[in-house]
Amino acid sequence: MAEEFASATAPVEWSAVAGHEETKERLQTLLREGRVPHALLFSGPRGIGKRMLAAATAAALLCKSPKDGLACGVCESCRALAAGTHPDFYAVLPEKAGKAARSIKIEQIRELRAEAARRPRLSARRTVLLDDVETMNDAAANALLKTLEEPPGDTVFFLVTGARQSLLPTIVSRCTGVRFAPLNDEAMAQVLTEHGVSEELLKPLIALSEGSAGRALRLFEEDALSLREDAMETLERLPQMTPEDVFSLGEQLGAMDRERLSEWLRYFRMLLRDLLAIYGGSGALLNADLEERLFALPGKISERKAFLAAREAAEAARRIETSNAVTRLAIESFLLRTGK
Ligand SMILES: [Zn+2]
Repeated sequence: MAEEFASATAPVEWSAVAGHEETKERLQTLLREGRVPHALLFSGPRGIGKRMLAAATAAALLCKSPKDGLACGVCESCRALAAGTHPDFYAVLPEKAGKAARSIKIEQIRELRAEAARRPRLSARRTVLLDDVETMNDAAANALLKTLEEPPGDTVFFLVTGARQSLLPTIVSRCTGVRFAPLNDEAMAQVLTEHGVSEELLKPLIALSEGSAGRALRLFEEDALSLREDAMETLERLPQMTPEDVFSLGEQLGAMDRERLSEWLRYFRMLLRDLLAIYGGSGALLNADLEERLFALPGKISERKAFLAAREAAEAARRIETSNAVTRLAIESFLLRTGK
């Protein structure tokens, strides 16, 4: 666990963070000029390197002999960070409790407050990194807000989120925003190649990942193409299914792991998006490799049905992401409304 934690937050080299050239330049200028604000909010799509860059910025702030504003990689501070033992670097990640989704709890924020108030031991200041801050409940968020309003000592806070819109506005306004855009195809290819993805898989993975290298790598590891195949087959069968078939399918899908089901729904929606593109006369398909099968769908699913299905699938995905209890229900009502 400790090892996993260290590797999740250990800074990589600045240059190893792919893409985001303008953002990196802006941060490096702040570092070089010693003007890094006391709280930064890194926001943008998931899996694009926000946390890596936050950790690398923290490393630069803690470094004993920074070079051109960036961490040297060899001083006592840099070595302690790499080993996950730096006393002035504190990271908070969402924790799992029982069956509930991972979240940052108020106890973690209380510990953070105590931690952040202590004097730095190795470096000139302390740094705190909070990832997935949108998973805080209201109590935790209010506790964090207090900390940001009365910043203890010379501590720099890095808040990282893939869902900026769900944060308390008061927290957002306390931070200097650093927005991240999805990675471009070139940066995506760079990251994927570094992780051993073969040439022929680059194109479909990049097409399926919307500029998120994290997503692409997960897809690669989880054999996402088989999950998409499952969604495709469901879409092909759905128009002929009886309500009984639909219920048993709902049962089957409802038993899936939540994240996998969300992913399945994503493919289902992407396939529907392609079907609607076909109806709209646009030739640009996201799943270009399935073109032949997609062009066979208009005979089975009307444009109106496809439109409704896309809407229902989006609603089901939203419900599954925001609530623990309704997975089965959400998926069944979506299938019933989508089927014949
Ligand atoms: Zn250093």
